[in-house]
Amino acid sequence: MNETIKYLLDETRLPKRWYNLVADLPAPPPPVLHPGTLQPVGPDDLAPLFPMSLILQEVSGEREVEIPEPVRQVYKQWRCTPLYRARRWEKALDTPARIYYKYEGVSPAGSHKPNTAVAQAFYNKEAGVKRITTETGAGQWGSSLAFAGALFGLEIDVYMVRVSYNQKPYRRALMEAYGARCVASPSPETASGRAILEKRPDHPGSLGIAISEAVELAAQRDDTKYALGSVLNHVLLHQTVIGLEAMEQLALADDYPDVIVGCTGGGSNFAGIAFPFIGEKIKQGKPTRIVAVEPAACPSLTRGMYAYDFGDTAHLTPLTKMHTLGSTFTPPGFHAGGLRYHGMAPLVSHVKELGLIEATSYHQTGCFAAGLDFARAEGILPAPEANHAVKGALEEALKCKEEGVSRAILFNLCGHGHFDMQAYIDYQAGKLTDQEYDPSELAMALSGLPSVPA
Ligand SMILES: *Cc1c(COP(=O)(O)O)cnc(C)c1O
Repeated sequence: MNETIKYLLDETRLPKRWYNLVADLPAPPPPVLHPGTLQPVGPDDLAPLFPMSLILQEVSGEREVEIPEPVRQVYKQWRCTPLYRARRWEKALDTPARIYYKYEGVSPAGSHKPNTAVAQAFYNKEAGVKRITTETGAGQWGSSLAFAGALFGLEIDVYMVRVSYNQKPYRRALMEAYGARCVASPSPETASGRAILEKRPDHPGSLGIAISEAVELAAQRDDTKYALGSVLNHVLLHQTVIGLEAMEQLALADDYPDVIVGCTGGGSNFAGIAFPFIGEKIKQGKPTRIVAVEPAACPSLTRGMYAYDFGDTAHLTPLTKMHTLGSTFTPPGFHAGGLRYHGMAPLVSHVKELGLIEATSYHQTGCFAAGLDFARAEGILPAPEANHAVKGALEEALKCKEEGVSRAILFNLCGHGHFDMQAYIDYQAGKLTDQEYDPSELAMALSGLPSVPA
């Protein structure tokens, strides 16, 4: 197959099953614990929040999980997503590297998030749920779940981190266009929100707080469940459709990645592209390097502790072992709102501990510079989150140039930046700065980690 071909698979090639990496891991991930008893949680403990079908996926050890036909039917609207070779960018960089990118920005919401939003809406609808509450950072998850809710006839209530609510009014408008309700978090609607507003009325919000609000409300009503857009095993599972397609597309191009790069907020798009290849690494001994790129201002994988912690600020969730900055950590207000979570997906944390992946971090201005460099060659303007993956791929491509070797680099271009133009306006005007997190804030958040006997 030659370079004039856009590697867009025929829709009949759309995967029929998601891939569950847990089945192939050399060691099982640590159990999720009940915060009161410190015993492993059972499916019933999670039943107030999620439909049983998703809980079973959360704890599943099956290698392959069938994608329900109604979900595949929706996926077909934009999947398989294209895999492109970045020929013009390679040339501009004068690198011998072969750079491929999987473009998830072609979904209706403009990112990878609908891959799991559609699946979660389907399983909730099937279980008779009427309403779903959720959090959103930059608004990509909220708009993806709003889209999925519209398709399956579900009410969607979104608690949006206040700093993004103010920075990104168009994401909010998109949620409302799909028929969802969007509330700035912390809000006066919940006890968790009110407690924070009492202490600090202008609190910028965080994903941890928004999760508390959404969980609190879901637990109160029988017809309401909660949905999370990242972090959890079932979310990562749904995202593996990205890597499964990419593997087949690269095979059509007669290539295989030497390096895979993804950005990590909660870890879902990274897991989506990487987990199928990590499976090959384990089963076939492939030497693929897999690199997670996170923001230097919220560096859970590179600077956090690997410890049991809560997923939210008000401590309503179970305890999961993950790389964490502490559940009360509030990162500075940088523009990649989707990467501002205090923890990392337990499965991504686990594969990091097993030495199956590497992690690195970059400041935002370097990421925006890389994103514009990419856009000027390839024409696609990445989301600020995706710029971290672009930056990671750029560094790998430059390494190839220095060493004079041609390696295949695959990165996940997890979303477009069309709703993030204010960030680009600010960057071009020289107004974006690289903000350090406050080390005393981190120390304080880490000192509040729950104590769990080994
Ligand atoms: C939500 C989001 C992220 C961060 O979430 P992950 O679970 O780490 O993927 C990154 N990029 C985009 C475009 C997003 O919408």
